[in-house]
Amino acid sequence: MINSEAYDAIVVGSGPGGATVTRELSKAGKKIALVDWGRHKPLKGNMIQAVLSIGIPGKSLLFTPDFAAVFRGIISGGSSVFYYGTAFEPPIELFKKYGVDISKEVMEVGKELPTQPLDDSLVGPMAMKIMHSARELGYDWKKLPKFIYQDKCKTECWRCSYGCPHGAKWSGRLFVEQSLENGADLIPGTRVEKVLIENGKVVGVEIKKNGRKSRIEAPLVVISAGGIGSPVILNNSGIEGTGKDFFFDPLIAVMGTTDRIPGGGREIPMATGIHMEEEGYLMTDMTMTGTLFRAFNVGALKPQRLFSHDRTLTIMVKARDDLGGSLTRRGGVKKRISQEDKNKLNKGFERAREILKKAGARDIYRSMYLAAHPGGTVKIGEVVDSNLQTKTENLYVCDCSVIPEAWGLPPTFSLVALGKRLARHILDKN
Ligand SMILES: Cc1cc2nc3c(=O)[nH]c(=O)nc-3n(C[C@H](O)[C@H](O)[C@H](O)COP(=O)(O)OP(=O)(O)OC[C@H]3O[C@@H](n4cnc5c(N)ncnc54)[C@H](O)[C@@H]3O)c2cc1C
Repeated sequence: MINSEAYDAIVVGSGPGGATVTRELSKAGKKIALVDWGRHKPLKGNMIQAVLSIGIPGKSLLFTPDFAAVFRGIISGGSSVFYYGTAFEPPIELFKKYGVDISKEVMEVGKELPTQPLDDSLVGPMAMKIMHSARELGYDWKKLPKFIYQDKCKTECWRCSYGCPHGAKWSGRLFVEQSLENGADLIPGTRVEKVLIENGKVVGVEIKKNGRKSRIEAPLVVISAGGIGSPVILNNSGIEGTGKDFFFDPLIAVMGTTDRIPGGGREIPMATGIHMEEEGYLMTDMTMTGTLFRAFNVGALKPQRLFSHDRTLTIMVKARDDLGGSLTRRGGVKKRISQEDKNKLNKGFERAREILKKAGARDIYRSMYLAAHPGGTVKIGEVVDSNLQTKTENLYVCDCSVIPEAWGLPPTFSLVALGKRLARHILDKN
């Protein structure tokens, strides 16, 4: 048993949801144990660290029955270590329908974190070319807001997607570090199996580390293990109604070859784009790292393209998928992309192809299906109330899993706002 009597609360998972709750509670003087399955090593921005944290099949890389790849980061800071830092404004009205008003917190996050679009000097040449071509075709294609401290950012640096080593991209990792300074204990490399509930009261969590089971005790637990991790833990704890009818925002990369672009291929992905709200998808530039590019081409059965990284323009099309599917007890993703959602992606593919052609690209093709935003597995209004509390007192959930409806947007801004609101609620109550 770890530090049994010392903790006011345990937070499970250090992605944007859990890291924010921990940071806010620890700042207010609460003693928090932050438990994460992933490791807490300095971010190096290299491929090996990325593969070990987001590319391990069955753990961080999951496959649906029709072979769509679903990614999640198992590392301190969660998936946000590898995200593209796009800071989409939360849909405040959507949450209000469920009694969750995050307008104050959204303002706070906007003041506290960088959410500006990139300066032109940081927008890569491929993203610029795509944006100009889209605009020439009449699209309202714009620079996107980014959680990036631009003064720390380096031109032609492409390491964002491997975990920014310069501290330029905000991620949950930054709040983990601030929480440690506030006195929180991080317990990394430790998987939480279930919440311990005795006589109807939360008393802690059961953990597994190096194959051995143990427990950590506290009277309040926040589960923030992400859209797949949280429902698994809650299900193991006897909490019903989780892990079904969820979204995962499927996406395709649309790629086309052009002449070599000086400096191309070394840039921040998702710097620019457009939300095609009525058609149900988002289109953005998505220049990948060389290794990821080659992996995508292997997946797309295009071995002849493996060496054209610095000549390939890429647009991501990401759909708002209908709710559906179920998770297995161990977190297997049983969801097929419906024909309607494939139609949305096909429509986006046609538009992306037109934009790439305008940019001078030839031989345009698309990747396999991927997904990076699993959520809606522990919905507000079904499993948690408007304070993100389950039916068991002092057992809360705060991450992508609580989003109550089909989504289709980069969720991090919303999760940081939800984390702040939950911390405020807990502090007011205790
Ligand atoms: C490549 C990529 C690009 C993306 N780009 C963007 C973007 O530009 N903008 C945006 O807003 N979003 C983006 N996202 C999505 C965003 O990163 C996630 O939606 C967000 O991180 C989810 O936060 P979370 O708190 O729900 O969970 P996560 O960030 O997934 O964190 C969950 C944490 O829980 C831990 N955990 C899991 N299970 C257990 C367990 N049993 N016990 C203990 N710990 C556990 C994990 O190690 C992890 O640290 C992207 C995602 C990916 C993969």
